[in-house]
Amino acid sequence: MDRQKAMKAVADLLEAIGEDKDREGLKDTPRRVADAFAEFTSGNSMSAEEILSTTFNVDGGDIVIEKDIAFSSTCEHHLMPFFGRVAIAYIPDKKVVGLSKLARCVEVFAKRLQLQERLTEQIAQAVMTCLKPKGVLVWCEAEHTCMTCRGVKKFGSKTITYKILGDFSAQKTAEVISLLK
Ligand code: ZN
Repeated sequence: MDRQKAMKAVADLLEAIGEDKDREGLKDTPRRVADAFAEFTSGNSMSAEEILSTTFNVDGGDIVIEKDIAFSSTCEHHLMPFFGRVAIAYIPDKKVVGLSKLARCVEVFAKRLQLQERLTEQIAQAVMTCLKPKGVLVWCEAEHTCMTCRGVKKFGSKTITYKILGDFSAQKTAEVISLLK
């Protein structure tokens, strides 16, 4: 990230909204916001393939579900946070991965400018590519501050997205979703 450019842009924004960017409370704001955006987009330089590359073998195996993976991401339409929880369910085909790796994989895609739909899909795709499971289901539930703090102001409203790849029967999908609720 070009930190100087980001700081200048924030200072310009402060001016544009009629603030005195040099007043006490705002003088470090450009730096703080630039640092925050460096963190919000840190996933761009991380690789899910690398994180999910350490797998171990199991015999057979039914569904593995890792749920309540908390995340926060940044909506690319408004540059405002959306946050919530992700659940990843997969049916292994011999290969499984450490549970903390799944949480880190969520972080890779969340720390980017995102859409919830794409976040959900990218996680599912990464699990499918790296673990080659029989099937994967990714469930994402999030609150968008661009919905709750501006526009329609629907406080507490949640958006749910999910993505299924591979072989996940209707019955298994229903089972998993009932466990997540
Ligand atoms: Zn938005």
